Amino acid sequence: MFAQVIVDIVHEAVDRTFTYRIPDDMTLTAGQRVRVPFRYGEVDGIVLALTETCDLQPEKIRNVIRPLEQYSAILPHMLDLSREMADTSHCPLAETLRLMIPPQMRRDQVKPRKVVQAALAIAADSVAEAREKQGRSSRRKMILSLLSDGKTHSATEIGEIIHQPLPDLRHLQGQGLIRMWEEEVYRLPGAAGPSEIAPDPVLTDEQTEVLETVLPYLQKGTGSFLLHGVTGSGKTEVFIRLVRRTLEMGRSAMILVPEIALTPQMVDWFRRRFGTGAAVLHSRLSDGERFDEWRRIRYGQARVVIGARSAVFAPAEHLGLIIVDEEHENSYISDRHPRYDARDVARSRAEREHATLLLASATPSITSFYRARQGDYIMLEMPHRVGNRPLPEVEVVDMRRELELGNRSVFSQSLKRKLLNCVSQGQQAMLLLNRRGYHSFVTCRSCGKTIKCDKCDVAMTLHLVRGDGQLHCHYCGATRPNPTRCPECDSPKIRYFGTGTQMVEEELKRLLPGIPVGRMDVDTTSGKDGHARVLDAFRRGDTRVLVGTQMIAKGLDFPEVTLVGVVAADITLNLPDYRSQERTFQLLTQVAGRAGRGQKAGQVVIQTYSPEHEVIVQAAAQDYRAFFTREIQRRQVAMYPPFSVMARLLVESEQALAAEARAAELYRRVENMLAEHPDWESVRLLLSLEQPPLTMLRGRNRWQVLMKLRVGEHTEAFCAALSELAREPAEHVETFFEYNPVSTI
Ligand code: ADP
Ligand code: ZN
Ligand code: ZN
Repeated sequence: MFAQVIVDIVHEAVDRTFTYRIPDDMTLTAGQRVRVPFRYGEVDGIVLALTETCDLQPEKIRNVIRPLEQYSAILPHMLDLSREMADTSHCPLAETLRLMIPPQMRRDQVKPRKVVQAALAIAADSVAEAREKQGRSSRRKMILSLLSDGKTHSATEIGEIIHQPLPDLRHLQGQGLIRMWEEEVYRLPGAAGPSEIAPDPVLTDEQTEVLETVLPYLQKGTGSFLLHGVTGSGKTEVFIRLVRRTLEMGRSAMILVPEIALTPQMVDWFRRRFGTGAAVLHSRLSDGERFDEWRRIRYGQARVVIGARSAVFAPAEHLGLIIVDEEHENSYISDRHPRYDARDVARSRAEREHATLLLASATPSITSFYRARQGDYIMLEMPHRVGNRPLPEVEVVDMRRELELGNRSVFSQSLKRKLLNCVSQGQQAMLLLNRRGYHSFVTCRSCGKTIKCDKCDVAMTLHLVRGDGQLHCHYCGATRPNPTRCPECDSPKIRYFGTGTQMVEEELKRLLPGIPVGRMDVDTTSGKDGHARVLDAFRRGDTRVLVGTQMIAKGLDFPEVTLVGVVAADITLNLPDYRSQERTFQLLTQVAGRAGRGQKAGQVVIQTYSPEHEVIVQAAAQDYRAFFTREIQRRQVAMYPPFSVMARLLVESEQALAAEARAAELYRRVENMLAEHPDWESVRLLLSLEQPPLTMLRGRNRWQVLMKLRVGEHTEAFCAALSELAREPAEHVETFFEYNPVSTI
């Protein structure tokens, strides 16, 4: 037998299979990882297929050295998926295969965790006698007493009472008094004790209707759905019922959530309703935890997978259902190599593995909603909140007017009043400001210069760190001390502008003395449990007002929140990107949706300098339809996606001239390609050579060839050629091909 092996080296030169002989005493299956001889050394590889014959001369074929595991790490349909992704994203297969297994496993860095267990080997009533034998060793006596309950205790557990017990345990084992053995255990992330099982609520009519539509499809393993349900309409309950049915059918289910911060909440929902541990996959897990969760899924011990983007590659077998919650979120797109959109991967898996796909959101992405209207998805709607609770009442405050009235505070009069009111009634509030730090820029009044990062073309933000000011670059993370004099002209007249979350937190403490305030942004949520720490404090009511960036807008369910304030709605609206209106609408609607989810009605205050802007008006009305209708027209007229494809060749170099020259060269090459292929020419809507808005990033100068392309039968071929072009090596520069990039900044 022969194995067709792809080696774990990402390079076009080896982007094909190599044939190895399988020794007689070895059995392998497709998808298994193996160690093979390669050139003058050895490499890891993956068996793609087994063949009985082979055309090569027998003496040229070398043997597989050994399998790396006894099971296949990549399931057959995941091998197919890897192939499809390599084709569509024009990258070597070894690269897409890497997505399918935890990176730590590839680097051989994690091993299954073993614990040492110990138990009595003698009858409990002989313990007293055994203790006598230990002479003056009080440690061994204590161990014997501990084990006298006849139960199994781990060395770790014993170690909590007797520091480093292993030598003593071995001694007792030597005396034949206790038994010791090793056991493999899983590292379970965030595994709290089993929570109480909550009873099923009575479904609302809308939930019932949605389930009645989806269940027949689930039974057949078909159907792609888009569930548009307003905030608080009870989408999670729909998920729970669908997952339960899937499990009853003996199949497994996958729920994708956009943010790590949302995972614990979803895990908790499921634990309360099923009492079983779902497997959780996200980037904040420790290496060991991720490896163990992955294996629990691979062995079929966890049949519900909850996770962020990359969980879409989880090795679940017999998949019956894939849910993508908050499907409008950009975090489903990975812009690292290989680039993928988890929603598309989910769709492909669902079709391949005969599972039902359900995308859900209160504010579906323009593209998904458009596709649903074209018939690509079956549309499901839940237009009302659970229990006929009203959507929150929204007030738009004109901040220009506040200035005229002499109010220079971060908070309008109305927001102040409502905050005081909310807190005095013992309720909770959330405040959104999509900008962290204290002041968002620092300028010199003498020469007018704004202090920028040395390595990026962006203003630095002032952060307060233990009472001291520090300037931070939000793009590369560089920091420097807060200057007392202008670095350009040495003037002492430094001024600070722009509000960040730190400043809101501080003003809030002044406005509401004695009221504990929490803050949730990148700075307060570092570390493995960073998000959970901030959110748990708010859930328990230890903090009463939560200030945060967009992180607080996403899917969180806090029934005691009755007031939501948007400190500055204009920030996202003014970003130089064709999606800034979509983003703003989603952000405002989502954050507004955090208010009034419990028994008490909710209120929202949106502060803005452009209260008449259509997007603000539509978000205030929480009218998705109105927003969609206008936005899709705007996109059609301007030929933006989904009516076109945005593509760019992004060139970066530490040398400004090299970047510009390479971009210009690429621009000419694209022009020539179009001239040579009339089919491709018909795809062109726009082709331009320019610097992106962010001209420098991490010390690298940036240039781009930006394209807008018609969607048609030749678009793919043209993009494949562009991708090829980007991979061409050129001195001192790096080139990236991006297809509908998340941002063109
Ligand atoms: P969405 O995700 O649609 O914004 P959630 O799923 O978070 O909404 O549900 C909002 C709230 O309503 C939650 O607190 C949830 O427990 C509750 N809920 C959902 N369905 C029901 C129901 N059928 N009966 C009572 N409460 C429900
Ligand atoms: Zn100056
Ligand atoms: Zn920087």
